[in-house]
Amino acid sequence: MYDFLFKNVSILDGVGSKTIKLLKKKKIEKISDLLWNFPQGFTDRTNIQTLDKLEIGKITTIKVKVIKYNFPRIRNLPNKVICEDENGKIDIIFFNSREGYIRKILPLNTTVVISGKINYFKKKYQITNPAYIVPAFKEDYVNKIIPKYSLTEGLTEKIYRKLIEQVLKNITNPTEWHKKEILNKIGNVTWLESIFKTHQDIENNFNSKFYKRLAYDEILANLLVLSQARKKIKKFKKEKKKFNSYYSNKLIQNFNFELTKNQTNIIKEINNDLESEYKMFRLLQGDVGSGKTIVSLIAAANVIKSNWQVALMAPTEILAKQHYKLACKMFKSTNVNIAFLSGGTEAKEKKIIQKKLLNKEINFLIGTHALFQKNVQFKNLGLVIIDEQHKFGVRQRIELSKKGGRNCDILLMSATPIPRTLIMAFYGDMDVSRLIEKPMYRKDIVTLSKPEEKIDEILIFIKKQIRNGNQVFWVCPLIEESKKLDYSAAVKKYNYLMKNFTNRVGLIHGGLEKEEKNRILNNFLNKSFDILVSTTVIEVGIDFPNANIIIIENSNKFGLSQLHQLRGRVGRGKEQGTCILLYKKNLSENAKKRIKILKSSNDGFFIADEDMKLRGFGDVLGYKQSGIKDFKLADPIQHQNLFKIAEKDIKDIEENEKNFKKYNFLLKLFDKADIINEINL
Ligand code: ADP
Ligand code: MG
Repeated sequence: MYDFLFKNVSILDGVGSKTIKLLKKKKIEKISDLLWNFPQGFTDRTNIQTLDKLEIGKITTIKVKVIKYNFPRIRNLPNKVICEDENGKIDIIFFNSREGYIRKILPLNTTVVISGKINYFKKKYQITNPAYIVPAFKEDYVNKIIPKYSLTEGLTEKIYRKLIEQVLKNITNPTEWHKKEILNKIGNVTWLESIFKTHQDIENNFNSKFYKRLAYDEILANLLVLSQARKKIKKFKKEKKKFNSYYSNKLIQNFNFELTKNQTNIIKEINNDLESEYKMFRLLQGDVGSGKTIVSLIAAANVIKSNWQVALMAPTEILAKQHYKLACKMFKSTNVNIAFLSGGTEAKEKKIIQKKLLNKEINFLIGTHALFQKNVQFKNLGLVIIDEQHKFGVRQRIELSKKGGRNCDILLMSATPIPRTLIMAFYGDMDVSRLIEKPMYRKDIVTLSKPEEKIDEILIFIKKQIRNGNQVFWVCPLIEESKKLDYSAAVKKYNYLMKNFTNRVGLIHGGLEKEEKNRILNNFLNKSFDILVSTTVIEVGIDFPNANIIIIENSNKFGLSQLHQLRGRVGRGKEQGTCILLYKKNLSENAKKRIKILKSSNDGFFIADEDMKLRGFGDVLGYKQSGIKDFKLADPIQHQNLFKIAEKDIKDIEENEKNFKKYNFLLKLFDKADIINEINL
């Protein structure tokens, strides 16, 4: 059976090149892929009805004798077959079916079983293009509860059912991979039973123990991969780095604030990693504005002090620049050499940087993806820091850990607020530090909501704020999934505000070139104007210390997490930040709820949780892009409990299990076997 499941679907009966293509559209290539395409529902075709008891509109199965053909042979007129039982007559109507075919499936004077929806036309019952027609002796094939699958056009239920049935016929129960105590927790059902029930049992749903068992399998398969990755990475011995707290403290004095307790503790965790003989592979997770950058710079400082080079990569040029400036400030009274490298760096300058990196004249390189180009080589890279990495999946993380070489520690930073219950499933290969405490002086952003009609009040408020030296973000709505429309709305607002604010307004949108965007953002940063109108392209993570107000138009178009991220753009200086959510009248209940939640909380983790409840897991900002949301069955909201069980399970497996072979089949079922092989670093 093991081999059978992983063969191409082409070996199944009735699968030709056409079906292969159609199945591919549904991402079904191997036979095991068929298993995970569960029925969307079931149609009850049991209980054969006699023709005097038909109900119009109901899907019904009948057993009748074929008595007469009526083939009009005129275009657009359907073919008709008249059938009867002891109690009445019915017309079976065929559009687009050939005479020969009809004669074959409905031979005169034979008894057949037909299933389809009952119509009534010109005082006669009829079934049009029945879903099933079989000879009476094959009655069992139709007279039952039949699964409905979500299929693609051209792939019929019938073909698909035949495939599934072949698969089900050919599978047997594999050796159980779960421990007894785990099985007890997840419903005590076998794999085979679960597969059968999910495909055939009308009672089955998302929360049945059968479905849950399979979902648990999937969660564990994911954790196994992460755990294996972690183990392999942890085996790397590296040269230890030193930590010098006197030096760190001195550097922090270059800032006019003190570290929070949370920051201090995380710095300690990182230092333990640096001083350890094993490679660091750590994620620093924290809400926008929680102060991750400083933490990473202190790590960098100690690695540099230990005579290693450090690279810090940010997703955008302007963000990288900001980090660069901050680093320059921090290292200003030291002999640490910092360089900046991005796609925009001139070729000549690039060459110089490359040379200096090789002879270690540069200790600290900050920039964008350009850092990872082949010709950028370090003499002795000791730490890689990556900011805002919500686009990295397991595979990429593994790649990354290889890149820096044996002695290179890795620190990732992410603002995607993943709920605690899911951290293992997402980042089980890494150690995780969570920055929850916000810098002390930082006040929560005040969030208000206003109907659009009251825009005048808002203008008055803004004018006053600008007079006090503050700046304003004005976010225009995503009206349609069309950049053009978004753009025209933003332009309109821009013109309107230009009139009201004596031309001290800027406009930025998705259609602009990178350089143009950077120029505008820099101008805003330098206070060349007071209001920045934008579509949602304001970069995540940039500090605009003077921007304290953000207006979000048509705020109901955004998800909760997205709104939270947007308002995180303001209040990054010492002034009170304000977020005003504009809305059009007649808000939906859901939209009202979202606004209420935002007004009541500034906690990104809490908001992410609420967002998941309201919208479902897949839609929450950053999760989809994370590339780690590759669960086919498990739902991080519905199955939170399973994730919790799996978290304990995997710890136990890590400690006590010597034989991972027993999970091989499980890993293969969920396409994880390849990744495990790739981990051979
Ligand atoms: P993020 O976690 O979003 O990357 P940053 O590291 O950019 O946050 O920090 C946001 C702002 O808060 C920066 O201006 C930073 O200098 C400042 N900051 C960081 N830590 C503290 C602190 N302990 N006290 C006061 N301000 C801080
Ligand atoms: Mg940041």
